[in-house]
Amino acid sequence: MENFTPTHYTLECVATGRQFEDEGWMLDDPCCKIPSMIRTRYAVRQIDVRPDSYGFYKFCDWLPVRRMLQGSSAPVTYKSKGLADYLGLKNLYITFNGYYPEIGAKMTTCSFKETEAYSVCARIREGDNRILVVASAGNTARAFAKVCSDNNIPLLLSVPEENISALWFDRPLNPCVKLICPERGGDYFDAIFLSNLALKSRKFYAEGGAKNVARRDGMGTTVLSAATTIGEIPDYYFQAVGSGTGAIAAWEANMRLNEDGRFGNKTMKLVVSQNAPFVPMFDAWRVDSREMLPYEAAKARRDAEIIDAKVLSNRKPPYSLAGGLYDALKATGGDIMVATNAQARKARALFEETEGIDIYSAAGIATASLVKSVADGRIDPEKIVMLNITGGGEHRCQQDKELWYLEPSLVFPLTPDPEEVVAKTEALFD
Ligand SMILES: *Cc1c(COP(=O)(O)O)cnc(C)c1O
Repeated sequence: MENFTPTHYTLECVATGRQFEDEGWMLDDPCCKIPSMIRTRYAVRQIDVRPDSYGFYKFCDWLPVRRMLQGSSAPVTYKSKGLADYLGLKNLYITFNGYYPEIGAKMTTCSFKETEAYSVCARIREGDNRILVVASAGNTARAFAKVCSDNNIPLLLSVPEENISALWFDRPLNPCVKLICPERGGDYFDAIFLSNLALKSRKFYAEGGAKNVARRDGMGTTVLSAATTIGEIPDYYFQAVGSGTGAIAAWEANMRLNEDGRFGNKTMKLVVSQNAPFVPMFDAWRVDSREMLPYEAAKARRDAEIIDAKVLSNRKPPYSLAGGLYDALKATGGDIMVATNAQARKARALFEETEGIDIYSAAGIATASLVKSVADGRIDPEKIVMLNITGGGEHRCQQDKELWYLEPSLVFPLTPDPEEVVAKTEALFD
């Protein structure tokens, strides 16, 4: 691909401020004794946004990547007319992650999980022969499967059998991507459990989730897209959250843009929302608690079944640790809101009517919260509002296409024999 020199970066522990080199796939500061995020510090202070032909890697100055992978696209930000007029907002900008060719948005897995996957997979050292492992409820698996399939990167996915209908693709996948499932009745947590058993093998290594700086800096490109399009850092940021990783990433991108200096010096207020009744972070935030409150497993499971936006049902979000969502909200004067299924469905219909494209339930939750905030007079209509549409265009993308589904190579019982999991999953890649 185009000429590309990876940006130099160091890692910094949020809790202690200690800086250190990335010796390869570091997810924590080995010297830090308390739970904390680590962050990247890029040698390039002013971002040089590359041409659109770079796809997602147009933001490579602020990505911890060693190479550029094939087939990527970046989030697209545009000034809203339809929804903005409806809401009476003068400066509403939509950052669209998904498939909407009319505006140049071409993420064929239709969600901002693609920004994570293109960043994380490009952080892998070339010549690393180990196999990346990702456990997911759906969107993350689809994004990683596409990126790894197109770029010949071995990948082991663990997804609950109930959710594998989410693993649709517009073409058959490269066999370097393998899927294992906990049997029916298993949920996201069983999928994580199963992937952890496979990870006992030295052939495999964990992607790392929110603690992977590549994941967060990948998601932070939504804000880079907004600020570089608008010419200014937004005043408000609306996003639906399950883990809150995207919002933490937005805050981190905001700080980098402040250091850049050309986009103003502002703190964008993070307004994140959860899908009621699954609202564990809202519950903690409401009583100003850094610790999450107890959330009984049976109730959590039931609540997760009720909500439309299943991708938002994370029971162990990176909320409490240093540099996590609690800190992000405190630092930005942010807030957590909730929206119901009914409100989100209405908001999705409104979005399609006013902006001309279908959006996911999760994006409907964010839109519903924006509608509510405006109705409550909480938004100054002159201010710059960024609405992060985290996923959409699935209907458009699937139209007139033959779809392919990823089938599991192995299905395991809910309490599998650990040695058997290792032996059988290793054998998949022989
Ligand atoms: C994963 C996901 C979210 C939630 O993102 P987090 O920042 O990880 O909480 C929101 N919307 C969509 C479409 C997603 O796939």
